[in-house]
Amino acid sequence: MAKYAQVVIDAVLNNNQVWDYVIPSQWSVSAGSCVTVPFGKRQIDGYVLTVSDQTTVPENLLKPLTGLKDNVMIKPELLALLPQICAHFKLRYLDVLKLFIPSAVRTGKPKRNGERRVPAYQHKQDQPVILNHEQQHAVATVLAGGDEVFLLKGVTGSGKTEVYMHIIERVLAVGKTALVLVPEIGLTPQVLANFKARFGDIVAMLHSKLYGGEKFDEWLRVSQGTARIVIGARSAVFAPLENIGVIIIDEEHDGSYQSDSNPRYQTHDVAIMRAKWHHCPVVLGSATPSIESFYRAEQGQYRLLELTKRANNVPLPKINIVDMAHEIRSGNGGIFGRDVLAALLATLKAGNSAMIFLNRRGYSQSVRCLQCGWTAKCENCDVSMVYHRDDEQLKCHYCAARLPFPPRCPQCGSTYIKHGAMGTQKICAELEKLLSQAGLLNVPVLRMDTDNTQTKGALVKILDEFANASPAVLVGTQMIAKGHHFPRVDFVCVVNADGGFVSDYRASERTFALLTQVAGRAGREIGTTGKVYIQTYMPNHYVYKFVQDYDYLGFYRREIAARQATKYPPFATIVRVLVSGTVDTKIIEVIKGMMQPLRDYDAKHQAFIYLGAMKCPYGRLQNKFRYQILARLRQETAVTTIDYLDQIVHNAQEQPLARSVKIFFEINPSSLS
Ligand code: ADP
Ligand code: ZN
Ligand code: ZN
Repeated sequence: MAKYAQVVIDAVLNNNQVWDYVIPSQWSVSAGSCVTVPFGKRQIDGYVLTVSDQTTVPENLLKPLTGLKDNVMIKPELLALLPQICAHFKLRYLDVLKLFIPSAVRTGKPKRNGERRVPAYQHKQDQPVILNHEQQHAVATVLAGGDEVFLLKGVTGSGKTEVYMHIIERVLAVGKTALVLVPEIGLTPQVLANFKARFGDIVAMLHSKLYGGEKFDEWLRVSQGTARIVIGARSAVFAPLENIGVIIIDEEHDGSYQSDSNPRYQTHDVAIMRAKWHHCPVVLGSATPSIESFYRAEQGQYRLLELTKRANNVPLPKINIVDMAHEIRSGNGGIFGRDVLAALLATLKAGNSAMIFLNRRGYSQSVRCLQCGWTAKCENCDVSMVYHRDDEQLKCHYCAARLPFPPRCPQCGSTYIKHGAMGTQKICAELEKLLSQAGLLNVPVLRMDTDNTQTKGALVKILDEFANASPAVLVGTQMIAKGHHFPRVDFVCVVNADGGFVSDYRASERTFALLTQVAGRAGREIGTTGKVYIQTYMPNHYVYKFVQDYDYLGFYRREIAARQATKYPPFATIVRVLVSGTVDTKIIEVIKGMMQPLRDYDAKHQAFIYLGAMKCPYGRLQNKFRYQILARLRQETAVTTIDYLDQIVHNAQEQPLARSVKIFFEINPSSLS
């Protein structure tokens, strides 16, 4: 038994220092153990990086470990990848160690001490379907391909999930394990039920909605090898699986794979690092691959596999672009275009169901006084508050702020308070009116958004209700866009598609992906025809034409040419250094301190296409001011420039001034808000 442990401790320190502790005799401590250590007067968590029989620390300064977490170990593979992951994302050891051991595991207790859970239903063994030729080809190529990265591009409903499952079956058969990542929002009970029905109890799920004890149970089942398939959201890419045979990232284009809170990392990159270590393939699946991934496939870094038809041969639905400005000019001020409403009513009268998509929860955005211009703004954040009709409150979606809806304008006393853009709640209210006017009184109008799906089981209840009632209407946000397979849905409407165009270089890409995804919910079974209506005030925007024609390639070519011309990723690297804190003068000083050496560096090396410092678009969130340095780096020298930027950030963090601010480093961030 080794005598000393070299430990990374969970204290607020900005470096990668390790501390030596004495291992009490009889304790079985090794690299990867999770321990408690005395530090000053406190007892804090620590992670053992290495153990040895020697130490350079004088004996009288050494203290013994005080606690050892049973059952919880970092797998050797993850420990081996730690330096690489830290270097790649410019993170500290501690940040990444905490990703390896989620907080529910660090601080909690298992609910059932790692015993097998008895599944509640979410449980019948189903039979795999017979794959079509394209699917067979995809499965065979992946299995024969060693540790390559595959981009599986398949239209909505083409049976990508079935491809994943066949690959997993083969991987399990040779004694290996599988990791399946889905966007947080796509981690639906339906997806889990499908996997459990096919593979039974060896499926574990890891996601943020699990309660502490449950998460610990699932984590332990994976760590101990009882569960051999992990399905999870972003952070599950660090799942303690051993002997991984395949890593699948479904809906790979989804923005949630890039974490936008500390520690910031890109899921694909971690997946590829792990896969290289295990010599296993990575499968990136999507109907609308991210521009960067498709570019990599074109460049030969990824191998492209395609599924061009829906698995059941039902044609893709016809997509109509509806010019809402034209509707207004011709006297229709309603939520739906006239043809849209007619088609909706016809669908319901024929006994089929409809989905109505809106990217905004609540009742209405931007509550404004028509008399004096007052708007309801959050006190802690630079954003409008949203009216929620359920409880007659104004809510901030970025913090916990709540206000009762004012009967009169707080500024001038007027009662002319106008609701701006519509939210899901308002659509439901309007729809109920429209349906009763049309004599469709018994058609249920269901709503699904983050407001009414927070409690356990709420999501399943709504989905079940919608699946079992036909005709019915489901109104919802992004949540209804992903993955769902409702056979009776014959009509899909996107109320205002333009909402997605905010000013960042990925806006068109996101809109294209989302609309394609939403449209893919319609007409998925034989006997339906599938009608999709996209309402817009910019009917001539190029994105809509490509969506309407299901022309991913056309869209990609236009987008990649634009990025090449304007020098955006993948032809440049964007780095954002975000500084936040409660005192804005201190933030500005920290930013200035970093900008000067960066300007000097640029003068010497011409490393930046763009370099600037500014207030963030959301200049204040949760009572913290936010400023950023934005840099667009020349691709040829990006690697060395990133290292230099990291050095500058590191130096800034060492300054006493930095104690009152937080500095985040992001490479190609998914959002610049
Ligand atoms: P995607 O993930 O590509 O959108 P899914 O995997 O959800 O598509 O498949 C859509 C539907 O087609 C599912 O109901 C699935 O069971 C079915 N399906 C998939 N492959 C086949 C096949 N080879 N034969 C028949 N049905 C299939
Ligand atoms: Zn707020
Ligand atoms: Zn007013």
